[in-house]
Formats: sequence, C-alpha cells, structure tokens
Amino acid sequence: MPLTELIIDGFKSFADKTTIHFNDGITAIVGPNGSGKSNITEALRWVMGESRAKTLRGDNMKDIIFAGSQFRKPLNRAEVTLIFDNKKRELRFDDDRVSVTRRLLRSGDSEYLINKRLVRLRDIKELFMDSGISQNSLAIISQGRVDQILNSKPEERKALFEEAAGVLHFKAQKEAAESQ
Ligand code: ATP
Ligand code: MG
Repeated sequence: MPLTELIIDGFKSFADKTTIHFNDGITAIVGPNGSGKSNITEALRWVMGESRAKTLRGDNMKDIIFAGSQFRKPLNRAEVTLIFDNKKRELRFDDDRVSVTRRLLRSGDSEYLINKRLVRLRDIKELFMDSGISQNSLAIISQGRVDQILNSKPEERKALFEEAAGVLHFKAQKEAAESQ
C-alpha cells in the first residue's frame, strides 16, 4: 500500500505544519528522545480513526492538540492528512490518489474528510478495511505489541489472521445483514 505523504498540523508536538514524504523502500525516522517520533505513529493511528485517547497516551482526545510551549501559545485545532497512491485500487475508493483527513477542534468538534469531502468515521473505517492498514492492524506495531500477540488467546489471534487474509470486509457485511 503506497503511503506517499503524512501531513501533521497542530498534532501534539507538531505546532507547525509538517510533511513527511515516504519514498520507495524503507523510511526510518530518527531523532533524540522526546523529539516526536512516537507522535508521528500516533498521528497515523489517529487519522485512521483511533478513538481511544489512551492509545495515544492521553486522558482526553483534546490532549492531542498542540498544548503550547515556553515560546508558543496552544493551538485550537489539530489536523492530520494521509495521502495514498491508489493506482492499484488497494483502497476501496475509485481514485488514483486518496487523501484522508481528520480534524479536531478544542470545542470537541471533529471532522473526517476523504479527498477533501466530509465523510463519517464509518467511511474511513470502510476505506481501510481489508487493506491491512486499519488503526489496530498489523501494519503498525508498537513496542510491547509483539509480546501481546504471542500471549493472546487463540480467538484474538484468529482475528489478526482474518485481517491479514482480507476477509474482515465480508464478515462485517455478513454481521450487518444478520442484524437487519
Ligand atoms: P523517545 O525516543 O523517548 O521514544 P519520541 O521521539 O518518541 O521519544 P515522542 O514521545 O513522540 O518522542 O514526543 C514526546 C514529546 O511530545 C514530549 O516533549 C511532549 O511534551 C510532546 N507532546 C505530547 N503531546 C503534546 C501536546 N499536546 N502539545 C505539545 N507537545 C506535546
Ligand atoms: Mg517514542
């Protein structure tokens, strides 16, 4: 899945709009402790629909908005955009380039956009379903997750294999049909 850009604006330590370009091959992000490396992976999870503040090391979702520093005032808005090359139609969207944006205001209002059009969180989740890159997926493995997978119950591990095999979308459709 060619992820081409991640644009972070007002999210955690990223007070200034910052664009990270992912070229072919492996991209490594290096930097001293506290420089924002983990914040980048959290920005990724967040834009893909993460709804648990704790996963993003906060108590409240508003904790992800730049909280100010010695020299800068806090911001009122966080916005993260992910851009994919979708020429191979790996995402469930009929366009060569797909951008996904999430925005949060201090008032608590939150917005999701696909290719700059307002959508529901559900649409974001559906877009990523079976692409192998949902916010909980195997594509993002944080510290401690490897042990957690090894120690998980068989049915939890089965869910991981189902996601990797790309059958979740059918399962979700089946469950929706059964509940009607
Ligand atoms: P390490 O190498 O120790 O893992 P790291 O590069 O992963 O470090 P992060 O954990 O991503 O660093 O960044 C932590 C920094 O982000 C801290 O300095 C913290 O104050 C800052 N930070 C977190 N949330 C916010 C926020 N809402 N506003 C401003 N700064 C924030
Ligand atoms: Mg870190």
